[in-house]
Parts: sequence; structure tokens; C-alpha cells
Amino acid sequence: MDLLLEEFQESARDWLWELSPEGCLRAPSARIADAFGRPAIELCATPFVECVRGTLPEPSGDGHDALDMLQRALQDAHAFRDLQVPVVVGGERRWWSLTGRRLFDARGGHAGWRGIGTDVTRAKQQAADLATLANFDSLTGLANRHRFQEQMRLSKAPLFKLLYLDLDDFKVINDLHGHHVGDEVLQVVARRFASAVGDGDLLARLGGDEFAVLVHNPQSPTAAEQVARRLIESLAQPVRVADLSLTVGTCVGIVSSRGRERDTHELMRLADMALFAAKAQGRNTYRVFEPEMEDAARRRMGLMADLHAAVAGGQLSLQYQPLVDFGSTRVAGAEALLRWRHPTRGYVPPAEFIPLAEESGLIVEIGRWVLERACETACGWPSHMRVAVNLSAIQFASPTFTDELCVVLEESGLPPHRLELEITESLLIHDQKAAVATLDRLHAMGVRVALDDFGTGYSSLAYLKRFPFDALKIDGAFVRSLDDDGASSAVVRAIVDLARALRMGVTAEGIETPQQFRALRDLGCTEGQGYFCGRPMESDALRSLIAGGPVLVGRHSAA
Ligand code: C2E
Ligand code: MG
Ligand code: MG
Repeated sequence: MDLLLEEFQESARDWLWELSPEGCLRAPSARIADAFGRPAIELCATPFVECVRGTLPEPSGDGHDALDMLQRALQDAHAFRDLQVPVVVGGERRWWSLTGRRLFDARGGHAGWRGIGTDVTRAKQQAADLATLANFDSLTGLANRHRFQEQMRLSKAPLFKLLYLDLDDFKVINDLHGHHVGDEVLQVVARRFASAVGDGDLLARLGGDEFAVLVHNPQSPTAAEQVARRLIESLAQPVRVADLSLTVGTCVGIVSSRGRERDTHELMRLADMALFAAKAQGRNTYRVFEPEMEDAARRRMGLMADLHAAVAGGQLSLQYQPLVDFGSTRVAGAEALLRWRHPTRGYVPPAEFIPLAEESGLIVEIGRWVLERACETACGWPSHMRVAVNLSAIQFASPTFTDELCVVLEESGLPPHRLELEITESLLIHDQKAAVATLDRLHAMGVRVALDDFGTGYSSLAYLKRFPFDALKIDGAFVRSLDDDGASSAVVRAIVDLARALRMGVTAEGIETPQQFRALRDLGCTEGQGYFCGRPMESDALRSLIAGGPVLVGRHSAA
């Protein structure tokens, strides 16, 4: 027994103690003296409760509670287990766990106490670290999703507002500059957001580039909107990270708890709808949730469900919009544009249903059908004419895409140089290496590739050097800004010069007036497309248009 005791005494974290019936330490060991940081002789003379009191940190609420419990246990003569006491010994803050039971003499009388003290500092620290991990985001130090939802659930505020936000194009930063830059940007953004929210508001990073703010007890009906504005403004100045100056923006969705059940998931869902609406409106905007947004979401769900039937039931068709060569004013080709005539809803624009097809993955099947149909149709056109087909990022990213394309070309009999694939910048940023590999393969096959909607997205000139394109398509929105903006002409001229240097053609989209047509031709664009040159039409209509010779001269006196 003594041996066992000795071994036990050697264990670094524990010390055995024994109290007299009066509650004073009996023959305290060197380890106890060590633990208390006081000589054994001094400890003997002092009631145990007082010895413990002497080690409590100041101020210490938890400590006094534990001490009260110890005192009561000794007074009332009942056992105690794992009483956790914070202490300061030798200037170091530590935690003890005390467990004890009563001793009885041979006649069953009270003979004192015996127990064990354990240093549980490490376990306490680990528990605290775990709690931090479970509740805080390690990158930014902000509350995490778990804590945010917990705080929302526990909120006693009669009214609160939930702001839900994500960063515009954060993925581009991550992909172009690497994750370490992305992480630093998130840290800077988190600090700016923290200074934009009110003292009582809870800011959290929910994950990735998603943040949220809980505005407790808003002081005015527009308090949450003011916070949203401040959040957006906080990103007005570029974020400087590692010699880079990066433009970061954000959109915010807001929902109020007033008149709603406080189901945290439901509120997040509504805030997300408001965020979706804000993003649809443009960069750096906020929207407050309105019930119509739910209707819009319901319509999206309905359309998504109907899209399956549309594919199977032949409701999809293609129209072709002429691409006109500025030099000869002849139709050099046509862009295939997808049309959906819904049996009850009528015409659904591609800008509405293509994102849904992408979300549901149906775009792969639809895209393949478009390619087959467009190639087949183009075979019936004069041999100098090419067909342009829009590609979705998901199709492009499929590892089997180029193989499938080979099959489509072979089966249709269309020479590869008569097919042009239109891709957008967003498609290049996900996996640049894979994108270059696919583009190279297309190049080797002899298929043309055009960069669509240039001027609306990131318009990174860096892409143009890195990727082998045959043509650039300047977006219609940009073309329209030519009318009222001298700077736009200068930009078009610069794009044309660059494209020429890189041996790329330049197509101007969305040309609606003879003035725009002339301006773009004079600026050096190679081809034009737009209602002025011809609206999207059936293939038969296009064939009769071509049969009429050069389409513009004379018809619109554009020359
Ligand atoms: P996009 O590729 O930039 O196509 C040009 C869009 O501009 C077409 O809209 C066309 O009808 C419209 N447009 C042409 N000329 C004018 C004009 O003078 N003024 C105005 N205001 N608009 C003009 P559409 O057909 O609604 O297509 C919208 C977008 O849907 C397309 O933009 C393209 O991104 C996507 N899309 C269309 N068909 C397909 C497809 O088969 N596959 C994929 N993945 N996307 C497609
Ligand atoms: Mg296009
Ligand atoms: Mg376009």
C-alpha cells in the first residue's frame, strides 16, 4: 500500500491530501507544499479551506463558487467529486480538481477527510481551445456559423435583423493569386467589416467568402440598411495584399425577424434569397427580403422541374443570329441561340433557364443537343459560313468534352473550322491549366474559339495572352455605352489593337443602330452582330437572307 502510495505521489499532476476532523491538512507531502507553493509547516497550521482561498486568483467568481461548495461539503460532511478550482501558484494560473470523502474511526465517528487534488490545467486549456475552435473562425477570429446560429437562436431581443453577404468574384482572386492571398484578403475584409458593424452587433464568417451580421435591437427601421451600406463602403478602397491592390466588393441580403418564426435556418434561407436578388441587381448592392423574392425562387424551382420535360418533350429549339463581316457586309456565320417555348408559361429567356440547367446539371445534355443540332443545321448553309455555339462552363470542364465534340463533328460532317465555340471568362478561372489544355486540343482539332461577353466580366487582358482565342466578342452593354461615352471608343480601339497584335478577330455584339455599326466598323472591329444586322431567326429565314447577298448595304445604308 505504501509502495502504491509512493508511486501515486510520484505522478506529476496529483497530490493526496488528508484533513484532521477540524479541517486542517495532516502531514502534507512535499508535493502538496509544491502545489500550493507554500512550506508544509505553514499549510498544517491553516484550515484547508483557507489554504485554498489563499491561492485563488483575484477577482475570481468561479473560484469563490468552488470554495463555497468545498466549505459546505466539509461543513455538511458529504463527499465531493471533481470540484474545479482556479488557482494562481508562483504567478502562474492553473486549475485544480478536488475530490474527497470522509474518514471514520473504528467506532464510526468522524475522523477527517481524505482526497486527491489533480492539476487539470491542460485539460481545461484544451477544452477552452476546443470551445474556441467550435465557435470561432480560425482565419479571421470572427464567430463561425455554429456560434452565429446559436446566438440567433438564443437571442432574446424583441427584434433583430439578419444580414447575409458574400464577396463579389472572390473566387477570381483565389484562382488568380493563390489561396494565401485569398486568405489574407479575407482577413483584411473581416477587419473592415468589424469596424463597420455596431458594438452590439454580431459579425460572423460563415465559411468561404460568406459573412453574416446579426443586428440586435435595431435602433431605427433602417438601421440594418445603414449597416449594409457601411459594410459595402468599407470595401470601397482596394485591399492591399503582398504588393497587390485588389478590388473587392460585396452584396448584402437583409431579413427582419419581425412577424416571422425564429427558425434560424428559415431566416438564413430568406436572407439568402435577398442576397440572390441583390447580386442579380449588380455589384455592391443590398436588398431587403420581400415576399416576391420567394415567388421568384418558386418560379425558378418550377422552371427547374419543367426543364426535364422540356428536354424530353422537344420544347427546346435553336434560332440563329447573323454574324456580319464588316468588310464585305456579308453574313460570315451565325450564332446559335437556345429557345424554350414553355407550354403554359410561354417563352422563357435563356438568361433565365440556362443558369437553372447549369445548377441541375441538365446543361450537359442540353449542350450536347445544341451542338448536334447546330452542326447539322450549319451543314445546310453555304460552305463559307460558320456556326457559333455558346458553351457553358460545366460542359467545357467535362474531361470527355473534346472527345464528344469529335463525335458530333464526325456524325454531322461539318468541317471543324466552320464551328466556333463561344466561351466566357468565368469558365477560364476555375482551373486554368485544364482550360489551356482543352483550348489547345480544340485548336489542334481546328475548331475556332471566341471569348464571349468581353467587357462585362473581369476583362482581364492577362487571359488574352495566356489563352489561344480566335476572336473576342465585345459585349452589347459595352457597345451601347459608345453612344454616350468617348472613353468607351478609346477602350474599343485599345481592344482592337491588342486583338490584332494577338491575331484575333473582334466581333461587336448588340449593334442596334447604324451609328453604332459605323462606329464599330471604323474602330476596326472585324464582325458585327445585333438587331441592326439581323435578329435571331430560324435557319430557313437565315438561308433566304444569305441568298439576298450582302445584307446591310442598301438595306440599312450603313456604308
Ligand atoms: P450571348 O451569347 O451574349 O448572346 C447574345 C444575346 O444578345 C442573345 O440573347 C441575343 O438575342 C441578344 N442580342 C443580339 N443582338 C442584340 C441587340 O441588338 N440588342 C439586344 N438588346 N440584344 C441582342 P439571348 O438569346 O437571350 O441569349 C442570352 C444568353 O444566353 C447568351 O448570351 C448566352 O450566354 C446564353 N445562351 C444562349 N443560347 C445558349 C446555349 O445554347 N448554350 C449556352 N450555354 N448558353 C446559351
Ligand atoms: Mg454568345
Ligand atoms: Mg455575348
